[in-house]
Amino acid sequence: MRKKRIKLGPINGNSPDDRKQYDLTAALRILRHAGREDPQLYTNDSEKQIQNVIDALCDLSVHDGMTGLVNATFFHVVLAREIERSLRTGKTCGLMVLDIDYFKKINDTYGHTVGDRVIQSVAANIMQNLRSMDTTARIGGEEFAVILPECTPEDAIHAATRIHTALNPLLINIDGHDLRVTSSVGLVWTELSHSLSSGALLSEADREMYRAKHSGRARLCHPPLESTMITQQERSSLMALLNEENTHGK
Ligand code: GH3
Ligand code: MG
Ligand code: MG
Repeated sequence: MRKKRIKLGPINGNSPDDRKQYDLTAALRILRHAGREDPQLYTNDSEKQIQNVIDALCDLSVHDGMTGLVNATFFHVVLAREIERSLRTGKTCGLMVLDIDYFKKINDTYGHTVGDRVIQSVAANIMQNLRSMDTTARIGGEEFAVILPECTPEDAIHAATRIHTALNPLLINIDGHDLRVTSSVGLVWTELSHSLSSGALLSEADREMYRAKHSGRARLCHPPLESTMITQQERSSLMALLNEENTHGK
């Protein structure tokens, strides 16, 4: 594709059209910088062009550039929606957190570029082992989360075990270096949680992940299946609270 010159100077006037042109130029620059250029962004149909630019910016804002996974911000949006759905339908939603073991050593030994490739390989491997309805996010440097909607606690354990087994160890060759990478995994599910917030469920999953770290790494930890379940009555009160919050939020 022939590159167009994208000029971004001061706004040349005060009219809404000047402002619109300035914003469009800035957006095109951002998309080019992010490697998201596409001929559709330069269509001569101006309404279509604006819609295409908005779509591309939305896509950019919810994804992590390195892995293509959902980013931490959008992860919380999806998790909050799935917690709400879980309360409404009574179907459990699982949440898995994964952190690569001794990652600093990989960076220190082989450099950050190799470290980045390890992050990408782990991300690709998680994706290969999931259902299409699951959401995988990169929520930190070498930390991932997977939302497993509409599954029983047994299904969630099964899915987490599959991912944990595929990744422990992950043997990869990067630039001639044979690497053996392991990861620690924590899993929780909504039936265990008395909280409505995505942050609280994530903290519970983090706690399980740190338990895996402290018990030797390369482990999967989750609460026992028979752990306290929320009762139907508790679920109804949580639902009522959620409805109230939604009503007041409007
Ligand atoms: P642990 O087994 O306890 O998890 O040990 P660790 O060395 O993996 O420790 P920790 O999880 O705290 O280390 C995360 C490191 O990841 C620190 C940071 O320098 C590195 N990091 C964060 N983001 C990136 C990134 O995008 N690329 C690379 N290459 N490294 C990153
Ligand atoms: Mg970490
Ligand atoms: Mg780590």
